[in-house]
Amino acid sequence: MRLPARSRLSSRADVLALAYAAATAGSVGVFGFSLLSVGIPAAILLALFADGIARPGSSLFYPTITHGPRTGQRVALSFDDGPDPQVTPAVLDALAQYDARATFFTIGRSLEAHPQLAQRLMAEHHELGNHSWQHSRWQNFFGVRRQLLEIERGGQAIAALAGTQQQPLYRPPIGLKSPPLGLAARRLQLTLVAWSLHSRDSQGDDPQRIARRVLRKIRPGDIVLMHDGHDRPGHHRPACAPALQQILQGLRERHLRCVTVSELLGSDQPNAGIPVQPTTARARGDPELLGANRGFYDPLWRDARLITAERFNTWPLVRSLLDRAPRRLGVAHLAPAVPAGKPTAPRSPE
Ligand SMILES: [Zn+2]
Repeated sequence: MRLPARSRLSSRADVLALAYAAATAGSVGVFGFSLLSVGIPAAILLALFADGIARPGSSLFYPTITHGPRTGQRVALSFDDGPDPQVTPAVLDALAQYDARATFFTIGRSLEAHPQLAQRLMAEHHELGNHSWQHSRWQNFFGVRRQLLEIERGGQAIAALAGTQQQPLYRPPIGLKSPPLGLAARRLQLTLVAWSLHSRDSQGDDPQRIARRVLRKIRPGDIVLMHDGHDRPGHHRPACAPALQQILQGLRERHLRCVTVSELLGSDQPNAGIPVQPTTARARGDPELLGANRGFYDPLWRDARLITAERFNTWPLVRSLLDRAPRRLGVAHLAPAVPAGKPTAPRSPE
């Protein structure tokens, strides 16, 4: 597979790594080498990692789609960790009964092991998304090279079926994100998809409870996370299909139509990977497609900018910090606040 050439600062992960290095160097330069000067930037970096783990919809390391347009009457059901011959056929039966389409984020090795299920998924016009090759629970700690291997091998299993080289949608195992994943995703030009509603079917096996939760919370544009398979061989999620029956019935009563994730995001082709890149969404000014977490970060950034500009005059703050540590920085003398040649005349009282 041919990889697109990388630009010099090619991803948010690159920018974060540079910002981290600059913050640490600056901190050590100003305050000297101490537990605080090294520890504070390290704590910030750990907080960023924690964000990639705690919030699957975070776009910090790479733009991530969490939902589609909230206007309209469409939702997307997505099924992870399959296909599983004990569960997936019943899931497909339920979807067919309600004339619903869905997106299956398959584990590559399971897809390859069950070609008849893969064929049925394709024949019934569901979408195949990539959920890595082996679904390692340690994948978030892999470097870029191993991330690329996992993603490419999972994608190739789908490409062999679909007969297309177009990158399928990608959902990382457990939804975890890290800087190496951000770099790999950028390199492969992936469209990362998380979810806006977790059915919690991986934490319980009561179909009614799962269905109640989904139907209580669902709204137009939602991408719902369910599981028709299991990442551990020999384990299954049998509650998925009966829960799905109830969910589909409830959605029909509310006139909510189930489409694939690609369709929800504007593609006419349910099985063609996804042509809508987050960058495209941004270019056409469609903030709905850029992930709910924009709503979380944007006000923070806006407030930070306002506070900086209006409440602080930052230059005197920087000057006073530099004044305290001129020797460490090798700054012999800071530029005068008023340019030379313009003598300061005392202001006459008015
Ligand atoms: Zn998974």
